[in-house]
Amino acid sequence: MKRFLYFIFLTLFFTVSCNTAKFSLRERRILKKEYEKNIMPLMFVSNKKDSVILYKRSNFFNADSTDRKLNKLIELMYYTCIDSLNPGVGIAAPQVGINKRIIWVQRFDKEKKPFEVYFNTEILYFSSSKSEGWEGCLSVPGYRGLVNRSDTVVLKYDTFDKKNYIDTINGFTAVIFQHEIDHLEGILYTDRISDKTKILTEEEYKSFNKGEKI
Ligand SMILES: [Zn+2]
Repeated sequence: MKRFLYFIFLTLFFTVSCNTAKFSLRERRILKKEYEKNIMPLMFVSNKKDSVILYKRSNFFNADSTDRKLNKLIELMYYTCIDSLNPGVGIAAPQVGINKRIIWVQRFDKEKKPFEVYFNTEILYFSSSKSEGWEGCLSVPGYRGLVNRSDTVVLKYDTFDKKNYIDTINGFTAVIFQHEIDHLEGILYTDRISDKTKILTEEEYKSFNKGEKI
């Protein structure tokens, strides 16, 4: 009987632990806190501790819609991304200190341009046709850079409803996905610019253009 109960306990333990996002102690501490207006502090590349998180590859996980910590994180990331004082068109979990493969992307390719959340996103195909475009990043404040990105990408991702969903994305939305998925790989847009004359300060950039951070 004892053995049987132990077996039941183990089965339950593994079922529960496999269904959660398995946040680390440090991540659980971040998720325990309450934030004013639901806006989380951002990780900045200029900060040594933050940059360790930003340059780390994020983990895949099982997206369970009943996971309360995961739901809280998703909501907080959304409000942090649309923060009216510092708005972005996308955000990745490492930017708020969580190394899990979660991104929010504003879908400029859809009617009403909704923000959507994706889990475990990977790029399966990059088109050889590329275009240069200006990018900014919530984690690299004060700068803009000219980045060469593929015009089309084929993605694989999970949502709460779908697993291993394959999608083809074009244009500016494809650029946002590439930028955010780079965050999940521990890559910043500035790492993609070899010619540093293509990185401008915000002031220099504003003098001839206008845009949002991704
Ligand atoms: Zn970014």
